[in-house]
Amino acid sequence: MKVLKFGGTSVGSVKSILSVKNIVEAIDEPVIVVVSALDGITDLLINMSIKASKGDESYKNDFSKMVERHLSVFSDVVPKEKQALLRKKIMETFSELSNIYRGLLLIRDLSDKTSDTIVSYGELFIELILSKVIKKAKLYDSRQFIKTHKQFNKHVVDFQKTNELIQQTFEQVPPVALVPGFISSSIDNGDITNLGRGGSDYTASIIAAALDASMLEIWTDVDGFMTADPRVISAAYLIKRLSFTEAMELCNFGAKVIYPPTIYPAFHKNIPIRVCNTFNPGSSGTLISNEIEKTEGKNGKKAIIKGISSINDTSLVTVQGLGMVGVIGVNYRIFRTLAENGISVFMVSQASSENNTTFAVKNNVADLAVKVLNDEFAPERSRGEIDDIVAEKNLATIAIVGENMKRTPGIAGKLFGTLGRAGISVIACAQGASETNISFVIKLEYLRKALNSIHDSFFLSEYKMLNLFLVGIGTVGGHLLDQIKHQQKKLMKQNGVKLNLVGIADIEEMLMRREGLDLSTCIKELRKCGIKSSPEGIKAEILSMNIFNSVFIDCTASEEIAALYESLLNMNISVVAANKIAASSPYKNYALLKETARKRGIKFLFETNVGAGLPIINTMNDLINSGDHIFKLEAVLSGTLNFIFNTISADIPLSKAIQMAVEAKYAEPDPRIDLSGMDVIRKLVILAREAGCVVEQSDVKTSLIIPADYFAGTLEEFWAKIPALDEEFEEKRKKLTSQEKRLRFVASMNNGVCQVGPMEVGSRHPFYELEGSNNIIMISTERYHDYPMIIKGYGAGADVTAAGVFADIISIANIR
Ligand code: ADP
Ligand code: ASP
Ligand code: MG
Repeated sequence: MKVLKFGGTSVGSVKSILSVKNIVEAIDEPVIVVVSALDGITDLLINMSIKASKGDESYKNDFSKMVERHLSVFSDVVPKEKQALLRKKIMETFSELSNIYRGLLLIRDLSDKTSDTIVSYGELFIELILSKVIKKAKLYDSRQFIKTHKQFNKHVVDFQKTNELIQQTFEQVPPVALVPGFISSSIDNGDITNLGRGGSDYTASIIAAALDASMLEIWTDVDGFMTADPRVISAAYLIKRLSFTEAMELCNFGAKVIYPPTIYPAFHKNIPIRVCNTFNPGSSGTLISNEIEKTEGKNGKKAIIKGISSINDTSLVTVQGLGMVGVIGVNYRIFRTLAENGISVFMVSQASSENNTTFAVKNNVADLAVKVLNDEFAPERSRGEIDDIVAEKNLATIAIVGENMKRTPGIAGKLFGTLGRAGISVIACAQGASETNISFVIKLEYLRKALNSIHDSFFLSEYKMLNLFLVGIGTVGGHLLDQIKHQQKKLMKQNGVKLNLVGIADIEEMLMRREGLDLSTCIKELRKCGIKSSPEGIKAEILSMNIFNSVFIDCTASEEIAALYESLLNMNISVVAANKIAASSPYKNYALLKETARKRGIKFLFETNVGAGLPIINTMNDLINSGDHIFKLEAVLSGTLNFIFNTISADIPLSKAIQMAVEAKYAEPDPRIDLSGMDVIRKLVILAREAGCVVEQSDVKTSLIIPADYFAGTLEEFWAKIPALDEEFEEKRKKLTSQEKRLRFVASMNNGVCQVGPMEVGSRHPFYELEGSNNIIMISTERYHDYPMIIKGYGAGADVTAAGVFADIISIANIR
């Protein structure tokens, strides 16, 4: 004999009721079918009673809707020939309930007894309907055999009487016995009671245990127990097997799939529980039994933890004081007082110094807990032995659960490391010696982020998610979006990395979406639904999204955007900057950003600040990290200046070459930024800092190729004046050509001394052949001394720069 329980969503629609009928009728042994009220009806019954008892007549409207909903299901699923009789019975029951509400409206007093009577109707209605839908179904009334008595102000099952009555009632089990879940009655006076919200699961388990059923099946609207609540973690997946302990730990901590008390009766009689999906009856669901599954997990790997669950309305109450140390009986008094007041505690943590005991309760009883404990410890408080007791509210509790955690070192380390990297601090934690559950409390605002990071860290061996915010969608940002779009699938398949664009912004608009934006349409969407952008606005949006594993990508040249990095890093968001401003800003700021990233275990990367996509900074870091010492750098770092020097010829004078550089978009629209060496100075400062020198831009000795007075005045004045230098440059070029030399604008760092300026290089010098706008760098180190290391290639261009930014993003994905 089996016991099946169908939840509210399983009986909430015509389609699902027909599925229930098929499932039950296909079973070829006697079954007991326990049913819940239609989805949402219990809540509605409660809300209507609150309204009626306050004199709010709008409950009548809700009542009519409730009647309509039941009647519509009724007329769709009950065969026509059986409708007349049943309709009469249902209408009588509605009228009974309507009278109770009318009474409430008049008396304006809602007692527990009335409330319990009212909520019982939800289960009764659905049982009536199903009795005419499922073939050979016989109706039972669980109030006749599920008996409760009062304990600490709560109705609890009286197992002795209940078991006896169930065995009597089901001495002969008919082919299909239909039982309303959730409802019960008092052993003392016969009043209607219930087993608590979600209690139909419990009804089914109590019956299964009393009758030694072969199996208890809980039919709901998900495929079974998932690794986390699927409404919060979209990547949660089905757990095929759980031990009783694991299931109990998971549902005790808020995995709403099964009402927690359900596990015990089945466990006690060793009756396996299967959680199945009414909407997908073919799926195998989750089997809960006394076997410990050793090898479950994605990719056949051993799953160390089975699931994560959470409770979001948590308050922490702390009893502390130096006078508690070594005193016997403080904890006894705390928990006795709480029990006497019907307050349930779901997590306890006590420091071994004994000077504080912290426990977690639901928010709605926190004030009561504080009050009764302050009363209990009034004498000690007045003597200063115990501090005033206070509650910290609006917190969340998370538990990770799994029997395989037992004696497996490093789980807590991995858990708290993951939280630390996500920037989430743990307020309290507890782990029992059974080692099957580690629970901890955090601020409610971090709940989603914490669940995602832990799930990602413990379960998602399939892929690692990286959430991207892109600011600046000009040429570099635009190319980056294209490159990510083309590479996305391959990265997921080959590298297990999923790049999820969660925000884009430019100077005008911004658009953020937690679930991710479509890379093909995001710019159009930004223009259509974006909101007004500002650096502060971008920061506020990102912080409020509170997403784990995220990267901020700056493809702007904005000082204000660079000023956001510190706050973002402090929120554990990695930063990838194509923007040079931060890394070349005052050394103090550069060092602070690097240090913040290091301390928080995240990244601040800016490879493209020098030499676009060329791997210069990474290479230098690798050299230094492997113990080398960089003492000299020599480089041509300005694609623009190199282009100009390479373009000047007998036919093309300096002024024309500058103009061509601007037209080819190598130079800035105002070419004086390149000609003044400003850009090269910034790059050199960044390189020198990465090589270990403490330098500022003002420390760089600069010789200009164009006299300083050419930089004063407007851009028009500059263009008007510059041809005056053409002749001088042509003379110089001719002379150099005859000597087989070329002019290069070189940046160098020699034992900490930095300088930039023009240099004449002979034909054997590595800088002599440097085509177009290319860059080159020679790195001299202790290991590379006689023959310096040389890196050479395109030093400018949107596609290579975007590729460099992309490479920085990928390198973040690889840190676990
Ligand atoms: P029923 O009405 O069938 O009793 P419930 O709403 O009580 O169903 O429980 C099923 C719901 O539990 C699912 O729809 C799902 O949203 C939620 N849930 C929370 N945590 C989990 C989890 N770890 N695995 C599966 N479902 C979960
Ligand atoms: N209908 C009841 C409730 O909503 C019992 C249950 O669904 O299990 O709490
Ligand atoms: Mg339920």
